[in-house]
Amino acid sequence: MNTLDHWINGAASAGTSDRMGPVFNPATGEQVAQVHLASGADVDTAVAAAKAALPEWSATPPLRRARIMFRFNELILEHTDELAELITLEHGKTIDDAKGDILRGREVVEYACGIPHLLRGDFTEDVGTGVDAYSIRQAVGVCTGITPFNFPAMIPLWMFPLSIACGNTFILKPSERDPSCPFRLVELAHEAGVPEGVINMVNGDKEAVDALLTHADVDAVSFVGSTPVASYIYATAAEHGKRVQALGGAKNHMVVMPDADIEQASDALIGAGYGSAGQRCMAVSVAVAVGDDTADALVNTLTPKIEELKIGPGNADDIEMGPVVTKQAHDRILNLIDQGVADGATLAVDGRGLKLQGYENGYFMGGTLFDHVTEDMSIYTEEVFGPVLAVVRAKDYETALDMVNRNEYGNGTAIFTKDGDAARDFTDRVQIGMVGVNVPIPVPVAYHSFGGWKRSLFGDTHMHGMEGVRFYTRLKAVTSRWPKSGVREGHSLTMPTMQ
Ligand code: NAD
Repeated sequence: MNTLDHWINGAASAGTSDRMGPVFNPATGEQVAQVHLASGADVDTAVAAAKAALPEWSATPPLRRARIMFRFNELILEHTDELAELITLEHGKTIDDAKGDILRGREVVEYACGIPHLLRGDFTEDVGTGVDAYSIRQAVGVCTGITPFNFPAMIPLWMFPLSIACGNTFILKPSERDPSCPFRLVELAHEAGVPEGVINMVNGDKEAVDALLTHADVDAVSFVGSTPVASYIYATAAEHGKRVQALGGAKNHMVVMPDADIEQASDALIGAGYGSAGQRCMAVSVAVAVGDDTADALVNTLTPKIEELKIGPGNADDIEMGPVVTKQAHDRILNLIDQGVADGATLAVDGRGLKLQGYENGYFMGGTLFDHVTEDMSIYTEEVFGPVLAVVRAKDYETALDMVNRNEYGNGTAIFTKDGDAARDFTDRVQIGMVGVNVPIPVPVAYHSFGGWKRSLFGDTHMHGMEGVRFYTRLKAVTSRWPKSGVREGHSLTMPTMQ
């Protein structure tokens, strides 16, 4: 069986721990690899490599770092098919969806190619007589990124390219469920010219994460994953003096107004609710239909589309939806559906019990649609993270908006309407970090920034775009004066006022 290594100081490494984790193919339920789970000693080795590489790398001119990013971008492009196959094998999503995962990540690498421009500081001449002031952005130091299973290319690529382009060194700790794609990305970064020790990767679980969070030589922590873990990461890393951004889970609502084009809205809901088997942090899991007529029309339009979803292994032709990631996730989602039925929601489409011939042990399920869901049901309160859409009926727009704003999560939301006034009011008043107007999954492009509000993000800084540059750099302000030699002004004990 294939054994998956760490990447430390420019080479693959088995580390010292004898703990291993299994990696499964979700389409067949078969174990396809085992992965080393790093010990504290393995983390120490990776951090020491990152620390040793820092002085030279942070002093490397940004233009040279950018040239490496250009090469890295080209290598990812060349290897897209191979990377997509790795993602589909271990995650389960379709090959086309895996290519989208890679492309959205590659766009952040393209953004990092502009690092000379992004790091440009400000300069003011004559802030006082003969005194100039300027500000510069310098690397934070040794950074670490802890990533979830659901985007094994995009989320590591949100983090390490921009971090190292800013002059930091990095240790990636990807999900232990699908570590092969992140490992290949790190190898390709090395091939592109990232020097030894600048990018490292440790595989592992809580033991490795805790060692990173508490390590004296780690300066900044980026995290993406579920809310309970994000909250823990934020508190633990901050207590140990690190800069932290920790992105958590979500419950994304799409408000469908009575004037919306129901066909367009339902097509959008199919993609946003069932794409990647609902395992996207920006997946829409709640459709808030304004008015009973809207809800009836929506459920009637969605039902046949869900029943006709082409479900199967992600590497087969013409498949729209693959399996969910693990047996545990599969069982948990089925339990939540059972609970939704027990709580009294109307099961409009039942995805339980789907069996695919030849893939009986795969973690497949059909798309599920609930109607008449209310805010007290676990199918509404829990982040299901599976192909399950809940329709909640709101009597009017204000009720819909209040519901979105009351929710503990604040990652993404959308409104579908033809009314510019309603859309403008919604974007203004909604308490959510990323908002779509007739766009169901409003994931910002790389040169804007990604991040939620409320319990979807712990910390202040969003990922990538200028927010990412700010997170991975520290601002320094310099005030300088070059007095003419021989001029004597005498001393003063008053506060300098730059007159
Ligand atoms: P997860 O929280 O289980 O794991 C994320 C990472 O944390 C992994 O690397 C894992 O090894 C590590 N980890 C898990 N438990 C830990 C613990 N107790 N202590 C320390 N580290 C731990 O998340 P997941 O199941 O891999 O991913 C799905 C979740 O991620 C969903 O909740 C989803 O909404 C969220 N997510 C959020 C965003 C966002 O941008 N806000 C993006 C993608 C995914």
